Amino acid sequence: MMKETSNPPINAISVDVEDWLQSTIDPKLPLTDRFPSSTRAVLDAFASRDIRGTFFILGLVAEKAPELVREIHAAGHEVQSHGYGHELVYTISPEAFRQDLDRSKKLLEDLIGARVTGYRAPAFTITLDNLWALDVLVECGFEYDSSVFPLKTGRYGIDGAPWYPHRLKTPSGYELLEVPVASFRCVGRRLPIGGGGYFRLFPYAVIRGGLRQLNRAGHGATIYMHPYEYDPFEFRELGYPVSWKMRLHQSLGRRGFPGKIDRMLVDFRFGTMKDLIASLGEIPSHEHRVSNGR
Ligand SMILES: [Zn+2]
Repeated sequence: MMKETSNPPINAISVDVEDWLQSTIDPKLPLTDRFPSSTRAVLDAFASRDIRGTFFILGLVAEKAPELVREIHAAGHEVQSHGYGHELVYTISPEAFRQDLDRSKKLLEDLIGARVTGYRAPAFTITLDNLWALDVLVECGFEYDSSVFPLKTGRYGIDGAPWYPHRLKTPSGYELLEVPVASFRCVGRRLPIGGGGYFRLFPYAVIRGGLRQLNRAGHGATIYMHPYEYDPFEFRELGYPVSWKMRLHQSLGRRGFPGKIDRMLVDFRFGTMKDLIASLGEIPSHEHRVSNGR
């Protein structure tokens, strides 16, 4: 396998550690027992390539499997927050968001004995409708965020948001480092390749082409994944009624997923979000303008 040029930019590999059923179907459901073994499969995959990544861990996961959080930290990975209960940020109040953040941060910090300063929102749910969330993040002690999807999709994203890391000015005038997940330019528009359904459905050649484009232009890419993408038999074994449509959308590409990640880890330089952030030169600033005055 060919590694890219002699001194290519470092890319970040990140894992949102959660339970598929609870995080995707209903945040009020209890966590199933599947996430510890699939998270350990991810840890093994990274260890086999001697790669350290960033794990955005849900507070509920930390409560149910504290030893798993300690294992992730002990293996040298970066532990950060995916919030506490996986409620979509634009569905809760600023006060509820603050409590969710505080709770997850404290749980993780107590377990690992180190500061937690990075955050990724459930399903990228910081949008133009709830930019106040950026203020709350800074006020809760977070220094970087990876929750603003740089394209508008059906449920999330902000069109025109910078696709590269930037210093984001929050509504109250604070500054927060925003590190969006990867997208690349393809036939006149930007396509997300950072993770999720896109990553599962695109052939590896498309992902490789996108990463090459970004790295050749001097940009590191942020990739995100979930432990359940290493669990191809979940839908067969779950014992919970999942509609065929949801099953199709969610399970497509799971079988080939670990192999795709492995090829990517071999072909490109990967590290943690902090490694990517440390490699940045001058970081441009950005402020979102909202026309309705919110
Ligand atoms: Zn999530």
